[in-house]
Amino acid sequence: MNAPAPKVSFVSLGCPKALVDSERIITRLRAEGYELTKRHDGADVVIVNTCGFLDSAKAESLGAIGEAMAENGRVIVTGCMGAEPEAIRDRFPDVLSITGPQQYESVLDAVHLASPPAHDPFLDLVPPQGIKLTPRHYAYLKISEGCNNRCSFCIIPKLRGDLVSRPAGDVLREAEKLVRAGVKELLVVSQDTSAYGIDIKYQDSSWRDRSVRTRFFDLSRELGELGAWVRLHYVYPYPHVDEVIPLMAEGRVLPYLDIPFQHASPAVLKTMRRPGNQEKTLERIRRWREICPDLAIRSTFIVGFPGETEEDFAYLIDWLREAKLDRVGCFKYEPVRGAPANDVGPAVPEEVKQTRWNRFMAAQREISRKQLARKVGRRLPIIIDEANGLVAKGRSRYEAPEIDGTVHVTSRRPLRTGDIVTCRVDRADDYDLFATAV
Ligand code: SF4
Repeated sequence: MNAPAPKVSFVSLGCPKALVDSERIITRLRAEGYELTKRHDGADVVIVNTCGFLDSAKAESLGAIGEAMAENGRVIVTGCMGAEPEAIRDRFPDVLSITGPQQYESVLDAVHLASPPAHDPFLDLVPPQGIKLTPRHYAYLKISEGCNNRCSFCIIPKLRGDLVSRPAGDVLREAEKLVRAGVKELLVVSQDTSAYGIDIKYQDSSWRDRSVRTRFFDLSRELGELGAWVRLHYVYPYPHVDEVIPLMAEGRVLPYLDIPFQHASPAVLKTMRRPGNQEKTLERIRRWREICPDLAIRSTFIVGFPGETEEDFAYLIDWLREAKLDRVGCFKYEPVRGAPANDVGPAVPEEVKQTRWNRFMAAQREISRKQLARKVGRRLPIIIDEANGLVAKGRSRYEAPEIDGTVHVTSRRPLRTGDIVTCRVDRADDYDLFATAV
């Protein structure tokens, strides 16, 4: 008789890139016959994939490790915070192992040591598309690791190293398997999506019976042929981004760009050392919208960056009102240990940061409300994320999961998660739409 399968409990924290790392580890563990369990007690070992981007994320990671130690005691730590092992060892000297991001092999070695795999040669537990932590109808597709930029507030290149792109053929094969397995929406992620392929000089890579260049435009075009929604995240406004806008206008990839602008004031952008030519960005956005009037742009911003003056902030608000971005997130600057930004200018007092954040959010709420009001009366395909009989929560082409607003759907027939249904938009509020299935 075979030994019972060892059980692993898994906590995945952080951004979509960390989620992809978790999926890879879990896929490998399942292939080796490990079982996943939702509870720490009763598991043979617990893996915590941490996030170390901001101090608040580190605190959350330490909290998750503490919980796993209290409930189980056999804990393996990996992910971004693993790049600072002393911070973890000081608090939890008994964790079994600590590794940094993408160190899949070391995580697996640690699991093998803590709880060797049960051998069952007759079982192939892994579906060909791997194990996904996202619901079955959408999946994150990670096209590269690391980043060649050196934004002054960011320690990701220190943690994850320089850009390493996956050959286009590899990415497309993974995407094809996902679509065959029922995935309806592919979310392309990386640290800097538009830089894709620079490190390998856009080399040709074989895909089906031809070759495809490892390049942002070529990959987007090919992904657009697979029959799923394709959503592009973390795109910087490099000049060649203009090339993908016609693909959006033709309906091959979603008319959606996630561009983390972070600021608009030239002085702040300079001290942030942001990639992409930020001059004339408003003009570029205007041209993009001429080519693809439906284009939705989502972005994130930082207020209270060291040295940000009242003039810089006022410039940002004016810019925001001109740009009329559809979806926007805003963070108050947090000094990340080891980030050069901490020394580029005087720190902005906490109460000033808070007031600027409030002013920013109020300005964006007004923009968002107006942008959404323009959708009332339209018929849109809505992908259902969460169905509950005749009511459901979903998203249109203009909203990404987790980060953007929701479309609340009512229907006369029961809806299922993963369905794409045509709906009429009845009304809108500041951030959400309300629609009826037709
Ligand atoms: S582009 Fe800038 S913020 Fe993004 S990962 Fe690279 S260095 Fe960090």
